Amino acid sequence: MADGTSSSPTSSSLDSTSDEDSTPTSAPAEGPAAGLKQLLALQDEDILIDQLRHRRAHLPEQATLRAIDARLDGLARDRAKVDAERAILSGRESELERETSEVVARIAAIEERGRTGSAGYRDQEAMAVEVASLGARRAELEDHELEVLELSEPLDAEIERLDGARAELTADREAASTALEAAVQAVEEELARALARRGPIEHEVPALMLSEYERIRGRLDGVGVARLVRGTCSGCHLTLPAIEVDRLQRAPKDSIAHCEQCGRILVP
Ligand SMILES: [Zn+2]
Repeated sequence: MADGTSSSPTSSSLDSTSDEDSTPTSAPAEGPAAGLKQLLALQDEDILIDQLRHRRAHLPEQATLRAIDARLDGLARDRAKVDAERAILSGRESELERETSEVVARIAAIEERGRTGSAGYRDQEAMAVEVASLGARRAELEDHELEVLELSEPLDAEIERLDGARAELTADREAASTALEAAVQAVEEELARALARRGPIEHEVPALMLSEYERIRGRLDGVGVARLVRGTCSGCHLTLPAIEVDRLQRAPKDSIAHCEQCGRILVP
C-alpha cells in the first residue's frame, strides 16, 4: 500500500492491497464505504484509548505522590544527619555526667573522712586542697555540660520540626495516595468502556483495511485514517490539488485512497 513516499494520492482496491496504484476493481459484498465509516469510528475510539493510556501513565496525582515521597526522603536524610550530630552530643553529655558523679563521690568521700576526724592536721590540709581542686573540676565539668546543652537545644528543636513536617507530609501522602487510586480507577473504567465499544466496531472493518490501518497507525502517531476536509488531509494538513480532490470524490466506492504526503487512508 502507499506510504508517505508515494508521489500522488493513490487508490487501490481492498482486493489488491499489495499493488501500489492498481486501478479500482469491483467492490466485494461488504462495501468499503461502510468499512471506511466504521474505520473512522474505530480511529475515534483508538485515539481516545491512546489518550486514556497516556493519561493513566501521566496522572498528576502520581506526580504529586512522587513529589511527596521525594520530600519525605529529604526529611529522612535531614533527620539522620541531625540524629548523628545529636548522638555525638549525647555521648559527650553522658561522659560529662559520669565524670561529674565521680568527682562528687570523691568530694563526699573526703568530706566524710574529715567529719570522722580520722585524719591528722597535715592530712586535713591536703584534703582541703584536694576538695578545692575537685570543686574546681566539678565547676568546669558543669560548664561543659551547659555548653553541650546549649549545642543540643537547636538540634532538638530541629528534630521536632522535622518530625512535625514528616507527620504532616505523611498525612498528605495518605490523601494523595487515595486521590491517585480514585484517578486510576476512573481512567481504567473509561478505558474499559472505550475498549468494549471498540471490539464490535473492529469486527465491522474489513480485515485487509484493518491491517493496513493498524500498520499506518503504528507508524504515524496512532492515526491511520484521515478525513479529506475541504480538500485538506486532516492527518497532515496537506491541501490536495482541486483535480485530485475531484478524482478522489469520484473514485469508486470500493477504492481506498491515501494521502500523498502522509500516506494515511483518506476518507473523502
Ligand atoms: Zn495527509
